[in-house]
Amino acid sequence: MGSLRKPAIVIHGGAGTILRERLTAEVEAAYRSDLEASVNAGYRVLTQGGNSREAVVAAIRVMEDSPLFNAGHGAVFTHEGTIELDAAVMEGRGLNAGTVTGIRHIKNPIALADRVLQHSPHVMLMGEGAEHFAREQDFEFVDNDYFATERRRKQLEQVRRADEGLTRLSEDEDDLDAALRDKQHSTVGAVAIDSQGDIAAGTSTGGMTNKRFGRVGDTPIIGAGTYANNAVGGISATGHGEFIMRAVLAHDICARASYTGISLQAATDEIIAGKFADLGGSGGVVGMDPDANIVISFNSPGMYHAWVDVNGRSGTGIFK
Ligand code: ASP
Repeated sequence: MGSLRKPAIVIHGGAGTILRERLTAEVEAAYRSDLEASVNAGYRVLTQGGNSREAVVAAIRVMEDSPLFNAGHGAVFTHEGTIELDAAVMEGRGLNAGTVTGIRHIKNPIALADRVLQHSPHVMLMGEGAEHFAREQDFEFVDNDYFATERRRKQLEQVRRADEGLTRLSEDEDDLDAALRDKQHSTVGAVAIDSQGDIAAGTSTGGMTNKRFGRVGDTPIIGAGTYANNAVGGISATGHGEFIMRAVLAHDICARASYTGISLQAATDEIIAGKFADLGGSGGVVGMDPDANIVISFNSPGMYHAWVDVNGRSGTGIFK
């Protein structure tokens, strides 16, 4: 066994049109506090000898339980007024992955994705089948209403009207809703490296407000919203999923770094500002390279994020 290394972790709480002038001090403090709680939960796992996958899951659970983020409790509504959740986790050692989509009754979808990784011969389970597996694995079930919040219900109404061309988005909303004005933002994700040098990445989301027809986004698609490979790094993405999927964003960033020899941060910046933006994509990623360098990059006005580096230095951020 090699010598123990210092762990590090980085998380995001979603990217989007987060406008500084519309974000009140109170709302900003609430986001920063939950981001800190999440990144600290993950870092604690790492310092207590847990592996990077366990740390990523622990960090994401905190954000799934917070009403502020578009994951778990507080997730966005579908067109039909239900909540359908997607999550994924991947290990950079051995390239193992578990993902779930269309989850309606499992409190922490990231825990189910983790269980798929560990205890299923499959990589991706959907809807009823995924929940059947959850029952076999003794998961706790909750009513779909558990995930619902008033803010997201109001947001569905606003987005529905805007999608139907009846109003412009967000003209008369209060500041809290201004922080939620995007259809998609506030997906959550984490990437960590543990004392063995193993990298893991995970992402969890409700998808996009007013999504229809069983829409699946990038989050549970390995290589699009979530990817990890110890040889090059791990990435968790957030933003408009249709563009992230078409860009195969997380894998493409890792591939560019691997094939060209440039750093993961440089590869990320090139792709987020270049190919991804050129396609019309808005969003960003967090990542970690094998030397525990933290990667943060976004082309949207803001992305909620937080980190603890190998020296134990930590921080939270929203804007560039
Ligand atoms: N990427 C997510 C999706 O499209 C949304 C987000 O990141 O906010 O499902």
